[in-house]
Amino acid sequence: MGALSEFRLMRPASAADAVRLRGEFPASRFIAGGTDLLPNMRRGLVGTEVLIDLGGVGELAEMRHELCHNRDTLRIGAGVTLATLAADATVVSSLPALAQAALAVAGPTHRRAATLGGNLCLDTRCQYYNQSEDWRRGNDFCMKRSGNICRVAPKSNRCYAAFSGDVAPALIALGAEVELLGPQGLRRLPLADFYVDNGMNWLALGPDELLVAVTVPLVPARVSAYEKIRVRGAIDFPLAGVAVALRRDGDLIGELRIACTGVSSRPEFIAGLDELVGKPLDDAVLAVMERHLKRGIQPMETTLASVPYRRRATPALAKRLVRRLWDEARQGA
Ligand SMILES: Cc1cc2nc3c(=O)[nH]c(=O)nc-3n(C[C@H](O)[C@H](O)[C@H](O)COP(=O)(O)OP(=O)(O)OC[C@H]3O[C@@H](n4cnc5c(N)ncnc54)[C@H](O)[C@@H]3O)c2cc1C
Repeated sequence: MGALSEFRLMRPASAADAVRLRGEFPASRFIAGGTDLLPNMRRGLVGTEVLIDLGGVGELAEMRHELCHNRDTLRIGAGVTLATLAADATVVSSLPALAQAALAVAGPTHRRAATLGGNLCLDTRCQYYNQSEDWRRGNDFCMKRSGNICRVAPKSNRCYAAFSGDVAPALIALGAEVELLGPQGLRRLPLADFYVDNGMNWLALGPDELLVAVTVPLVPARVSAYEKIRVRGAIDFPLAGVAVALRRDGDLIGELRIACTGVSSRPEFIAGLDELVGKPLDDAVLAVMERHLKRGIQPMETTLASVPYRRRATPALAKRLVRRLWDEARQGA
């Protein structure tokens, strides 16, 4: 890794000030825990002369219950750390997929600094991109930084770097929304719509916008879980990650939501699963679910693990989680 280049550090005290500074310095970047941004700056992947440190913005670190769309909801500030999320009593009991995903990120020291906002806005990753500047120069760079072509799909005109954050799929499966603050004010959108299927421009975030908070509905009787496949048992990004949220109506599926990470340029909400609602969980239903999953993901050679492995492992992981949650939901009923 190279040396960190010189930068100016700004420390706003409010979200509104952070947005104003971002408008004033167009080449600036927000920094939260810095656990992704700083290594990327040292690798020459991100160049910026001004960093806007969100660490002093107290409102971003708040967590509270509130009523949203007439539902009991947990509102989590973007500055809440992953260690706090993973240990929070409401999150652990009512949103286990979120606690498990937060706990699956990097290692304990990273999670004490790393924030929810930074994880959701995480840069996309690829074996041709997350390398030192010398390595990338030796391989003629790639389209995402300094080059012209996508190394994993040379004939394509887009970049296929993969979104590999752990927390987004859990929150998408749980039906979360994001609150974004920009110069025009606050707007909300479903978290799934916050992402774009393009490795270079993967966020529907305006240039001056700040991710302020996430709201997650607390749905009674819904169970959820997150698991990932990785090379090592810790400090490793997902080769594939799957989050499932499920509700049982007796012996029938009441609700089934699945989202994946590491297998496309955005965290993928798996479409089409509504057709399984009202059916019992049997092999035929699991086969339909597998079809929807395979259609919904697009792993490319962005990691050392092969595409066929990730294409097979993702539905296998999902099936395992769904079966486990199905039993768990009956025991809780
Ligand atoms: C060794 C190592 C292993 C890792 N393993 C994993 C892993 O297994 N899973 C995983 O998901 N991640 C992993 N990471 C990446 C990173 O640690 C986490 O994703 C972390 O949650 C990022 O949060 P942060 O607060 O540190 O973000 P930062 O590094 O501060 O920021 C990341 C990006 O988000 C933007 N940003 C931050 N907050 C906001 C906001 N409120 N609004 C708008 N933009 C914002 C920043 O400008 C930057 O572009 C790993 C990192 C390392 C170094």
